[in-house]
Amino acid sequence: MKFNNEVVLMSKTLEDGMISLNAPNTTSKLIRELREKYWRDHPPNYRTSSWLEVKESPFGKKTSVITIILSTRGCTWAIAPQGGCTMCGYVNDSYRERVTAEELKRQLLREHSRFNDANGDRIYKIYNSGSFFDNVEINEEAREFILKYLASQPNTKKIIVEARPEHMMREERLARAREHVPTHIELEVGLGLETSNDKIRKDCINKDFTFEDFTKAVKNAKKYDMQVKSYLMIKPPHLTEHEALQDAVKSAIDSARVGVSAVSLNAMNVQAATLVEYLWKQGKYRPPWLWTVLEIVMQSMDSISDTEIICEPVAGGLQRGAHNCGKCDAKVMREIEQVIKFQDSSVARIPSCSCRERWELIIEQEQLIPFSLNLQE
Ligand code: SF4
Ligand SMILES: [Zn+2]
Repeated sequence: MKFNNEVVLMSKTLEDGMISLNAPNTTSKLIRELREKYWRDHPPNYRTSSWLEVKESPFGKKTSVITIILSTRGCTWAIAPQGGCTMCGYVNDSYRERVTAEELKRQLLREHSRFNDANGDRIYKIYNSGSFFDNVEINEEAREFILKYLASQPNTKKIIVEARPEHMMREERLARAREHVPTHIELEVGLGLETSNDKIRKDCINKDFTFEDFTKAVKNAKKYDMQVKSYLMIKPPHLTEHEALQDAVKSAIDSARVGVSAVSLNAMNVQAATLVEYLWKQGKYRPPWLWTVLEIVMQSMDSISDTEIICEPVAGGLQRGAHNCGKCDAKVMREIEQVIKFQDSSVARIPSCSCRERWELIIEQEQLIPFSLNLQE
């Protein structure tokens, strides 16, 4: 019965011109099954959170970066029978029922009140673990309130939200958002491209849009004076370490080519109740080596100009995140941080550790494995 309701809901969403639906395949059925099992033991709840980071530029200028996570119904793609993306567990923290505009306003005001004293320029990151321009997740009234409220705060320099490309086709929503935020305040949209390779996005990530859709979304964002940050996934499941390295660098270059202003290189972290966790528990998936992450950051930096590169490995050094042998993890993380801080690969000092040779050998040997063979496993 529940499943039928969702099909009806998805049909409505379809009429709304947002998500193209393929019939659920074996992968999506398994993703869905893993989620539902988790949901049975973890009833929905409003799980909001927020934090402040003070970022310092190489020239010593400090900016308050305020992140607020709102609790919405959850990503429409993750709730759909198609199951959502193989690595994404964010929907597990969502409310999984429609959330009213009043409730979303309350969440924003409550979380924001913690940062009234934040100093200097402010950058707001407003995340809803889905799509800010999806009316099912955040309706027009709530969207207007959030943007107007943040734009009216002292020293707001930038507001960052996240969206899926299909919602960037709804130009009236982008136009209205831009109306609420005066143009002296930057408006940035993070789009989860993950990879510029359509086959990898579909077969390894279970994300159902194309690079062409992403390119159109970037164009539309620009039309309304919005910047785009491309989120890329380092090492989707079923890829070898070497393929993951090549794929991330190519995707960063492709993203820059179509005009994004920033590329966020996200190393996989194994989240609960996901297909990636299912594979990881069976020893069929290992998050990327930190050597791979450093290499991707450096190569991307050297290949792209005028595009900011971002990389902060979540759970770096832990088994569920990008990791090396354990002895050199902190040192490699520090080098990644330095390269990012100065946006310059030449500042990296490659630490010496015996595991580097092992990693080089893996990368070399994996080049003998053709992608299609590996994908069939
Ligand atoms: S990665 Fe994005 S699109 Fe995919 S399920 Fe998670 S929130 Fe939804
Ligand atoms: Zn090591």
